[in-house]
Amino acid sequence: AYSHVPPGRNHLAVPGPVNIHDSVQRAMVQPSQNHRDPWFPPFFQEILEDCKMIFGTKEGTPFIYPGTGTGGWEVALANTLSPGDKIVTFRYGQFSHLWVDMMQRLGLDVECVEVPWGCGADEAKLEQILKADTDKKIKAVAVVHNETTTGVTSDIKQVREVMDSLSHPALLLVDGVSSIGGLDFQMDAWKVDMAVTGSQKALSLPTGLAVVAASPKALEARKGAKLKRCYYDLEDMLQTNPSGNVPYTPSIPLLYGLRESLRLLKAEGMENVVKRHHRLAEGTRKAVEGWGMKLLCKESRWNSDSLTVIETPQGFDSTKIVKEGYARYNLSLGVGLSEVAGKVFRIGHLGNNDEIMVGSYLFGAEMAMISAGLPIKPGSGVGKAIEYWASTSNVIPTR
Ligand code: PLP
Repeated sequence: AYSHVPPGRNHLAVPGPVNIHDSVQRAMVQPSQNHRDPWFPPFFQEILEDCKMIFGTKEGTPFIYPGTGTGGWEVALANTLSPGDKIVTFRYGQFSHLWVDMMQRLGLDVECVEVPWGCGADEAKLEQILKADTDKKIKAVAVVHNETTTGVTSDIKQVREVMDSLSHPALLLVDGVSSIGGLDFQMDAWKVDMAVTGSQKALSLPTGLAVVAASPKALEARKGAKLKRCYYDLEDMLQTNPSGNVPYTPSIPLLYGLRESLRLLKAEGMENVVKRHHRLAEGTRKAVEGWGMKLLCKESRWNSDSLTVIETPQGFDSTKIVKEGYARYNLSLGVGLSEVAGKVFRIGHLGNNDEIMVGSYLFGAEMAMISAGLPIKPGSGVGKAIEYWASTSNVIPTR
């Protein structure tokens, strides 16, 4: 018996994993190779060096772990803090929630500021907390830069300004899982001490790598940090990475993919990458307006250029849209998670995307909404995106 395989392709419009560029896909087709042969150290060192670009750092040290973003969270916490250390953070979505959960399970004393889902890091509240901390008991401030549940990008620069205005010495730990490599990220300028991402997001690779960068201050803090750590102990990386070696068997195909992905980002230029993400996101937001719907994000200063989270009418189950899209059109949209399950759906536009790709997600979302029974006028959103993109398009360099 033949099982049915839909023609065409699966249209992947979730905020990770994201579409992999053809050249990255090809770069990963590699035979197994021995990472202890002499080809490996220069190959790996070049990749580590190129990673600095996505973090916006010259001073920081990048580390590549076999793992995922969650592992990166653990690297950031376990290498800088000790049991009972006070950490301040914000909860405004499922990922910030899970990071808080990890902080608690690791034995940190967590002061979690509850923020309505759809809003970002509350700088005024942070200022109040840090001001009250006169004997500087707070050891770290942890912020999820782009909350992938809500489509909200917090302002890390402003978080840093609050810390600096009070001369607070806490470390700044940032989850950049759905921002780094796509959105503006300035590790050095914002004095981020630990920055974390995962390979399946803006780097547009398969899942399987946690990429982390540590500031000199974080590496210094590590020496006194007493949280238990083993697999994620930076010590083992620091012992081996400088000579281009690794403490654990690396995924060779993923590293070839990362090298190619970094090459593409470098060729495009990070500034252009950031601008492209903004343009694609703006087009998507125009479409949402055209549909007469609202973003979950409550203030335009927090609008995410990684993904758009769209509120559906009250009483309507948003998962219907996602189900119809997948069942009828082979389209994968993001469902609402946790507190906003059934109330929103998500369109990812981070990583390897262009206008026609994101346009196809909008086209598909429109069809899925219509199939799910929403009174959407065909073309109402797609038309707005076309207007915006066509009036702001650029000739591709070299064409
Ligand atoms: N942080 C954010 C903002 C995320 O979006 C995700 C995953 O989607 C994670 C952390 C967890 O990463 P992973 O699923 O790679 O462990």
